[in-house]
Amino acid sequence: MDPATIVETASTLDCIHCGLCLRTCPTYRLTGIESAGPRGRIHLMRAVAEGELDAGADFAEEMNACLLCRHCESVCPSGIRMGAMMEFTRGGLEAGGGRPWWSRLARWAGFRVLLPSRRLLGLVAALLRLAQKTGAVRLAPLLLGRRGAAAPSLPAVPPASERVPLPARTAAVGEPRGRVSVLHGCVMPVLFGRVNRSTVRVLAAAGLEVRSPTRAGCCGSLHAHNGDLAAARALARKTIAAHEGITDLSGAMAPIVVNSAGCGSHMKEYGELLSDDAEWHERARSFAARVVDFSEHLAACPDEFLDAALAGRSAALAGPVVWDDPCHLCHGQGVRAQPRSLLDRIAGIERVELAESESCCGSAGIYSLLRPEASAAILDERLSALAASGARTLVTANPGCQLQWQTGVRRAGLDVEVLHLAEALDRALADGTPSAP
Ligand code: SF4
Ligand code: SF4
Repeated sequence: MDPATIVETASTLDCIHCGLCLRTCPTYRLTGIESAGPRGRIHLMRAVAEGELDAGADFAEEMNACLLCRHCESVCPSGIRMGAMMEFTRGGLEAGGGRPWWSRLARWAGFRVLLPSRRLLGLVAALLRLAQKTGAVRLAPLLLGRRGAAAPSLPAVPPASERVPLPARTAAVGEPRGRVSVLHGCVMPVLFGRVNRSTVRVLAAAGLEVRSPTRAGCCGSLHAHNGDLAAARALARKTIAAHEGITDLSGAMAPIVVNSAGCGSHMKEYGELLSDDAEWHERARSFAARVVDFSEHLAACPDEFLDAALAGRSAALAGPVVWDDPCHLCHGQGVRAQPRSLLDRIAGIERVELAESESCCGSAGIYSLLRPEASAAILDERLSALAASGARTLVTANPGCQLQWQTGVRRAGLDVEVLHLAEALDRALADGTPSAP
């Protein structure tokens, strides 16, 4: 790998070895090993950058074991940027080769062929649904050995009626007071079509006309996190172009509302991703400035719109309710108060805090598929906190986190419903029962 890429990320050199980050790091907590924590990883990166260490298999293992949760960034007094450093490092490792052929083939099929194609994703989802319904999915470990071991634990694919794309235009409820563009996403339409539809209904109820350009699919965040920077840049250009022509009612560029924390966090950094691209850098910067998380945009709406829609509704959520901070929302985007304030606006809701709610649930993109044991062990800690909270509803805002919590709640036998924030608000809006005075 090219050490210059790490050295160029100046914050690599900012670590003062204070150790404040260690307790926040899920892999350090799990192993207690210095090289599996932020400080150790930075030390290794620097050793490679300075030519004291080969970027061999051991180095790659420590880099790839990081969840990219960025919790260390939130507590670091030196302002290290682990997310950016890790993306550069993984990009360098991938460019340097070293993976076995079957791993390269799987990455090519997943990142280059499947994720960018809505049609192929739809086909795979339909086949997986069939395999899940007939029980054939349980044969995968027998047929494929270790490489098929994860198949039975893949998320349940919803019926075809739920896997429909969003309409290109949804009118505001009542007099429109703004217009927004919403990201379709890649996995969202096939696994969480209902969340996308809830997102649009809630925005429309808040008086916003919603556009959803069908040309835009995958934003490339999984590619960037896993070292395929060329594909991440290609998908960023496609996403920018798809949303570029959409204007607000005033004629200014419309905000781009994202309901997946991982995607939103990545899209806000498109300017950096395309900084070496003379043609696209400026377009990427102005695009990134338009990106807002769903909760961020809604919480900034004048109170009367959403409050009028939510007033007099009973919560329609089993209480108590906890908010789980997705890593790429709290650490990646600094969004913490807005989702809580939105939940508190639902009449009749009883919200309690989840202990250490900013700690990673172990989902981390495709981490739970690549490293199921570590992911489950990290989740176990979070499940203990959930059980201790006494919550009956957990609300979050990222598809990976939602799947991870749903899996964990089932495994632990907890009577807790896991919802996206958009679903929670949509349910409150749909429930016409007046709340108790
Ligand atoms: S908190 Fe920051 S400065 Fe302190 S050890 Fe961790 S990375 Fe280094
Ligand atoms: S990003 Fe998360 S897993 Fe990676 S070093 Fe920082 S705290 Fe640890």
